[in-house]
This record gives sequence, structure tokens and C-alpha cells, in this order.
Amino acid sequence: MAPPATTFRRSWFCRDELEHQRFLDMNARLLPVNTKVMALVMVAVAPAIFFGGDLRSVGPAVFGVIFFGALQRAASRLPNPQIICFIGLIGALTCIVVALYFYGAADSAGMALVTWPIAGIAGRYARRVLIVATGYTCVIAAGAIMIAEPGILTTDPLHVTLIVAAIIAAASVGAVLRDSDIDNRGAAILDPLTGMLNRHALNNRIPEIEEQSRLTGRPVGVIVADLDHFKSVNDNHGHNMGDAVLRDVAYVLRRELRAYDLAYRMGGEEFAVLLPGGSIVETGAMAERLRAAVAAEPIQGLEIHISVGAACTAPGEDFEWKSLFERADAALYEAKRGGRNRVVVEDHAAASAAAA
Ligand code: GH3
Ligand code: MG
Ligand code: MG
Repeated sequence: MAPPATTFRRSWFCRDELEHQRFLDMNARLLPVNTKVMALVMVAVAPAIFFGGDLRSVGPAVFGVIFFGALQRAASRLPNPQIICFIGLIGALTCIVVALYFYGAADSAGMALVTWPIAGIAGRYARRVLIVATGYTCVIAAGAIMIAEPGILTTDPLHVTLIVAAIIAAASVGAVLRDSDIDNRGAAILDPLTGMLNRHALNNRIPEIEEQSRLTGRPVGVIVADLDHFKSVNDNHGHNMGDAVLRDVAYVLRRELRAYDLAYRMGGEEFAVLLPGGSIVETGAMAERLRAAVAAEPIQGLEIHISVGAACTAPGEDFEWKSLFERADAALYEAKRGGRNRVVVEDHAAASAAAA
């Protein structure tokens, strides 16, 4: 199966689902704030219009920031949003510095504005991305000042050193806030027993996959798996053993999935997997692969099975989580009724006949 067109792809900018979720959420929160900051900058510039300030570099800077701001806004609807947004932020930052260079760089209090995109990068990205962006910003800001006024490092070094200190300070404080957010967010979206994403994480993710399904027209598969007779594991071997089994089953499921498949613990002993881009045949094959993998080896010395239901959007049908989950869950119920340790894939023809 080809990787989905527009969902999470592992890259240097974004290594896992947690970073992806965090990026999408922070990007959505920061965009309206950036619009307000932009308006604030306009208000700050306004007195210069009336009192005769030097406005030469304001036009190109505003144009550049709006252009690259639009790129950030579009990012979440495009493939690799982290990369597109990063280009937007670095582009906006570069426009600010270039404009200030023409303004005279060292003499402009506006140079402090470079901390704005840096704070945005600290909020959205992992530490490694922030370090690179901070280094780049220090180099271009200090470089612009030194090129505009050669020799300034020996005549008045504070012009350079203080802006570098301000950039590093903004990045450092942003990084601490980001780390605290990661800790809290990890606790909020990861199931502590299995390390899998939880239902809350799934709810965060669904609007994005629904939107992508609408835009790309590609299918989305849903698999729902439930441990068979799990209550008897608890009853016969104790709750701790039940926990250990759940952990091991989650490990087996994740081992069988590819990086861009999304696996969630829905609660109890039930798991859901989303396959963006997965056809009904591919979804059914993956469901069987998961079932077989769990059945293939003893888990905590016990024979453990899962029953699995699979459903997929029909050609031309947009992905709608609630209805597709219900269809996969109905297939799971069939698998249980049919004797357990089996896969039932919904019958598209029967489903559309029933809907008609
Ligand atoms: P079926 O094949 O019909 O699915 O039977 P089942 O016994 O698996 O299903 P049932 O819904 O009757 O029981 C599910 C059990 O899973 C009951 C509950 O105590 C147990 N369970 C749910 N969450 C956890 C957990 O986090 N740890 C442990 N040890 N048990 C759990
Ligand atoms: Mg069960
Ligand atoms: Mg259950």
C-alpha cells in the first residue's frame, strides 16, 4: 500500500505521532494569535506615518510576513505540513531581517521582532528544529547588523550581542514551555499501560483525516480488534497478568503495523487501527495479519486470540469516523458470533444495499 498522500510522514521535522499531534494543535492555536500580532505591528508602525518616520522597509517586510504567514496557514492542509510551515516561519523571519538591514539594522529597535518567529518555532517544533532555527536567526540578525555597519563589533558590540542574547532567551524560554507541554500532552494522549495512543488522541486526529479524505478522495480503512474471553484471563490469572497480556498484545499489534498506520487503545481490551489510503482489500489483509500475529505465539505463556472487524470507505464515499467505526464494530460483533479468533470484513455490496 502506498503511504497516504497527506497524513503524517516521518521526517527530521516530525519524528512521531506525538510530535505530529502537537504540531497540528499548536499551529492551529498560534495562527489567530499571529494575525493579532501582525495587527499590533501595524499599530506600532502607524505613528511613523503621521510623524514622519522612515518607512522605506516597512512595505516589503509586511508583504513578506503576510506571504509567509499565508504559507503557515495553508500548511496543515498540505502534505508535510511541518516542512511547509517551517519554510513560512523562516521566510517571515528572513523578510524581517532583510527589511531591517535596509533600515539600518543596528539602529532599529525592530530587530527585536525576530524573536516573534523564534517563539513560534519553539512552540511548534522539537528541540533539534529549534536549535537550527535559533542558530540561523542569530547568524542572519548579527550578520545584517555587521554588514550594515562594518566594524560595529569593536565600536559598539552591544548592538550585536544583545540581539543574539534576546534570540537565545526567547528560544530557551519557549523550549521550557514546550517541554512542559509535551509532558502534559503525552500524559493526555498516551495510554499509560500500553504506550498506545488513546481515544482522546484519536478524537484530535479524526478531523484531519476526514478533511484529507475529502480532498484526496482516497479510501480510509478502520480495524477494530477485541481480545477474546479476556475476562477469564483476569479471573484465572489475576489482574496483573491481564495487564501484562494487554501490554504484550499492544506490542504485537504495533510491531505488525507500518509507521503511518494509526493504532489506538479504545479502552478496556479493545483496539482500533486507522489505515489512511487503505482499500477494503488492504484493510482486510492487515486485519488478518494482526489476528494471525497475536495467535501465532503464546503471550505471557497463555494462548491469546483476538477477534477483528474491518470496514473501509466505499469508492466515492468520504471518510466519516462515526459511521465507519460502527460498521467495523458490527463486523467485530459478527466475528465474535462466528466463533472468535477470526476476521470479518464488512461486505460493501451488502452495506450499500442496506443503506439504500
Ligand atoms: P469477548 O470474547 O466477548 O470479548 O469476552 P471478554 O471476556 O473479552 O469480554 P468482556 O467484555 O466480558 O470482558 C472484558 C474484560 O476486560 C473485563 C475487564 O475487567 C477487563 N479489562 C478491561 N480493561 C482492563 C485493564 O486495563 N486491565 C485488565 N487486567 N483487565 C481489563
Ligand atoms: Mg473481549
Ligand atoms: Mg471488549
